[in-house]
Amino acid sequence: MSDINDTHDPGLRSWVASANEEGTDFPIQNLPHGVFRRTGSAEPWRGGVAIGDQVLDVGALHAAGAFSRFGPIAEQAAALASADELNGLMAAGPAAWKALRTALSALLREGQPAQPDALVSQADAEYRVPARVGDFTDFYTSVHHATNIGRLFRPDAPLMPNFKWLPVAYHGRASSIGISGQTFHRPRGQTLPAGATAPTFGACQRLDYELELGIWIGQGNAPGEPIPIAEADDHVFGLCLLNDWSARDIQAWEYQPLGPFLAKNFATTISPWIVTLQALAPYRVAWTRPDGDPAPLPYLDCAHNRTHGAFDVRIECWLESQSMRDGGSGPSRLSSSSFRHSYWSVAQMVTHHAVGGCNLQPGDLLGTGTQSGPTPGEAAALIELSVGGQQPVALDNGETRTFLADGDTVIFKGWCEKPRFARIGFGEARGTVLPAR
Ligand code: MN
Repeated sequence: MSDINDTHDPGLRSWVASANEEGTDFPIQNLPHGVFRRTGSAEPWRGGVAIGDQVLDVGALHAAGAFSRFGPIAEQAAALASADELNGLMAAGPAAWKALRTALSALLREGQPAQPDALVSQADAEYRVPARVGDFTDFYTSVHHATNIGRLFRPDAPLMPNFKWLPVAYHGRASSIGISGQTFHRPRGQTLPAGATAPTFGACQRLDYELELGIWIGQGNAPGEPIPIAEADDHVFGLCLLNDWSARDIQAWEYQPLGPFLAKNFATTISPWIVTLQALAPYRVAWTRPDGDPAPLPYLDCAHNRTHGAFDVRIECWLESQSMRDGGSGPSRLSSSSFRHSYWSVAQMVTHHAVGGCNLQPGDLLGTGTQSGPTPGEAAALIELSVGGQQPVALDNGETRTFLADGDTVIFKGWCEKPRFARIGFGEARGTVLPAR
């Protein structure tokens, strides 16, 4: 279902004028799904699609009968896409997603009747986590991140022997996933001061972000029924931006032998829009391994994964401090990279997750792991940029950071661009650190 079709035509224009502007994240070729209402209102939460600087209220168009001419599959999908959580749309599967995308693309094209009553300005909208997340799993798929951070935690053996054989992950916490704009208090917990033999309890001193993508599971699998890798993409509804906030000092003390716990369960911030796998079809690239690295075991290998397994999603991290806000200066860019460098693909993560019999469910969320690229400027967490806190990172306004300060807002951006295709974007995932309670 990853085929490129006329909905990706870069020449398409919309009757929503802002969707035709250069640099918009949401041209008519994108059509990402989210859940919104007017900010501060008592309106019901409902499904929407981002178009230019507007949100298309899918339910308003559906109620007006706009989807009926596209057939029952598209009409049913439109009803699911207007719900207050998108689990039903995710469960409907790729044929429904494709029918809905075709209908939305047709309805929003220039020359079709404008539907201003079905639009809400994004400036007036607020969002929530767009689906009920039953389970959250966070992977660890960047070999560059794993090597950089492994060197800090275990200088003698930075890369664990399993890394190149399976996509490493831990089961995370769904309840503390928040939407862009999330604020949270700096966590408190146990840490072991350098040289000490007993831990102390207090506020985290080494608070960090992790620049990741989120993978929204679409249709699930029955318990005990694996997902063959050639079918894995049919189980993925789309991608978003994801910040796996991390308390490095808590992590260092608690992580052995069972992995992260309180270091990562206090907050996870995602972007409101889910960019569908269908929208991302033009930006897929070959998934490759460096010469000499092991080939994946057969259950993690297929022809489509080799030729189209990776996604060239450009990702950036920005930091806006309290003094930048006070002084009116803009945020400072910390790093940029691409998801194409991931050592493991989306399909491999999905297939590996289910291969032992685990059932994935619509609305499950997978984090890709921190997506650090091959060069130092592509490091996707402060612990790497500051080399474990030893080399302060300079910000544009003269401040420095080794780890996050109270009042810091971390902003992730993502987009895809490619010659002969439209540029599509993910919007933002932003979150702000409040002082410890
Ligand atoms: Mn992570």
